[in-house]
Amino acid sequence: MDKSKMNEKFTKKINGWFIDPQIFTYKFICNCPGECCHYGVFTDLKEYQTILSIKDKVIKNMDETQSKNVDEWFEEQAEDDDFESGIAVGTEVINNKCTFLDKNGLCTLQKIALIEGEYKWKYKPLYCILFPLTTFEGALTIDIEHIERLPYCNVDPNTHLTMFEACEEELKHFFGEDGFAELRNYREEYLNEIKFGVNEDVTK
Ligand code: SF4
Ligand code: SF4
Repeated sequence: MDKSKMNEKFTKKINGWFIDPQIFTYKFICNCPGECCHYGVFTDLKEYQTILSIKDKVIKNMDETQSKNVDEWFEEQAEDDDFESGIAVGTEVINNKCTFLDKNGLCTLQKIALIEGEYKWKYKPLYCILFPLTTFEGALTIDIEHIERLPYCNVDPNTHLTMFEACEEELKHFFGEDGFAELRNYREEYLNEIKFGVNEDVTK
């Protein structure tokens, strides 16, 4: 992974990840019924293996718009250093939606966790949880390109929420409580720097 560009661009690191400060200023609201799930997602090899280990439960909770043939669920594995294990596996798109999205717009993996009374994101791939946040070249950043490709994503231009505020739960999941507290402190520092002109707000 070439992290040199990010090293030059960002200064703050939490839990080993550089922080793109745009998350403190970029306006965002999540208010559509899951358009991002229509394109599938890249899972880490370990997440892929976890999903296969519960395949019987997954099949049981699928509906007629989903394929119950396990061989149709994933694309070929590919090397990718942005993933923890170094291997990414994409979910297939079936009937114009991720193979795990049911006809009611629910993620089957999340549905299973809820049915079992488990943590809701127990089986859900990290990049599904994070979007529109993502990781790139060693930094936690915003997948602006993908947001802009999705006509129903972030459609309220008057929202006052920032990505940080809209995705607090996701950020806590990613960084843990201590890491999130550090992120909140960094936000205060960064916003003060913008206020006093030390830093430029690049989202304007
Ligand atoms: S992240 Fe965007 S596309 Fe996904 S559910 Fe929220 S608004 Fe919709
Ligand atoms: S795995 Fe679930 S959350 Fe992720 S894209 Fe597919 S349906 Fe959506």
